[in-house]
This record gives sequence, structure tokens and C-alpha cells, in this order.
Amino acid sequence: MAKTEIEGTATLNGQPGIIENLLQLLFPERCLHCRSLLPPASARPLCPKCDSLSLPVGVVCPLCATLGHKNSPQCGCRQSGFPLQGLFALSFYEGRWRTLLHDLKYRGRRALARPLGRWLARELQQQGSFRPQLVVPVPLHCNRERERGFNQSALLAHQAAKELQIPFSGLLVRSRETESQTKISRLERLINVQGAFTCPSKFETGTRILLIDDIFSTGATMKEAAKCLQRRGAFIYGAVVAFNPPRQKS
Ligand SMILES: [Zn+2]
Ligand SMILES: [Zn+2]
Repeated sequence: MAKTEIEGTATLNGQPGIIENLLQLLFPERCLHCRSLLPPASARPLCPKCDSLSLPVGVVCPLCATLGHKNSPQCGCRQSGFPLQGLFALSFYEGRWRTLLHDLKYRGRRALARPLGRWLARELQQQGSFRPQLVVPVPLHCNRERERGFNQSALLAHQAAKELQIPFSGLLVRSRETESQTKISRLERLINVQGAFTCPSKFETGTRILLIDDIFSTGATMKEAAKCLQRRGAFIYGAVVAFNPPRQKS
């Protein structure tokens, strides 16, 4: 088997071309919600008015869901052998962000994956604590993907790879069909996804992989997917559009 099996390389080789610059001039970036023009060099995909109700998330400890500050999660709960080195999220799963993801996932607005994946990559790059070599999406089972017509995580990952100018690879396969994670408990989620992924392709040990999904809730799915890559010697950092933290016990 080939040493590295990477498909769909999205590297654009260098700076944006004349056409890309021209397109940006003709079609400047607009707020994903109200379509108003974004301020120049905006760091968010929603205009300040639409984004005022939601807080950016940034770095999160994937283990205890504590929000981090800049480069490191301030939770101190490091656990050796945990499959995810860190987690990055654009926003909380609420308000307009929730609507955007519903539009993408359930209402088939695939075009939203482009700006969302791009913004995710941009913010991750700005935050700068992880320099991935490869972007891998959390896969759907082939039956589910056929039903929906696409895998939203793969669309997001494609765009992120393009923005980061590194290759995209569908390294993971969801080999077992699982129940939807949305209506079951945390424990049930863990059991539900156990052994659901395989990684039939080979890659070099020590490869830094950016694993992309749309939402991180209990993290059961992403952790199980990451475990599969970790067994092959990869370093994995997760990135999602929306973080849906478990309710804090008071
Ligand atoms: Zn707006
Ligand atoms: Zn923690």
C-alpha cells in the first residue's frame, strides 16, 4: 500500500490569483446572516450587529469543556493518552449560529460551507497554537451521506484545507451505522459510536491532523474518530463551527 494516500489536494500554491482578488472586489464578504457588508478585515463571518448576541468561543479543553484563554486551556485536567490535543470552536451552538448550521445540514444550503469552513480556518490560524499538515473530516456512514446528499463536515473540511493551503483527506471511514446522537444521553452516545470508525489508509507517524466536524457537544463522536487516527500515530486537534457545552452541574 502506498505510504501516504491523500486525495483531493486543495493546495492552491501561493497567493490568491488575480481572479480571486477581482472576485473579492466584485463580491466583498457579507454577513452570513443579514448579508450586510462586513467591515474591512473583519475577523468574524457575522456583522457586529448579528454577532453581538453570541460570544466567540476559541480554544476549549476537549476533556472538561472549560473555555481556554488564547493558547492554552486553563483547566489543568491534562490526561495522558487523550486522543485530542485541543479543540477550537468558532461559536456557541445558539442563536444565529444554530440557524446557520441547520440551514447547512438539514435545509441543504451547501454554499454555507464555503464561508464557514474558511472562517474556521482563518480564526484557527490567527489563534496559532496548532499547525496542521492535513485536514480530515469526521465521516458520515455512506447510507446517511447518500440520504443527505453530502457530508457537511467534509464540505467544511474542504474549505478549511483550501484556506490553510494544506491537503484534505478522507482518511476516516464510518464503518458502522449509528443512531443519531441528538436525542440520546451522554453515556448512550459514547456506547453508540464505539468502534464506529476505521482508518483504512496509511499516513506517516506523527502527522498533525486537523479533524473537522460541525458541532461538538459531548465530544463522543469526535473523540472516537480521533482515537482511530491516534492509534496510527497522528497528533489530532479538533475544530468545529459550534460548541454546544454540556450543562454545568451547579
Ligand atoms: Zn449581520
Ligand atoms: Zn480540562
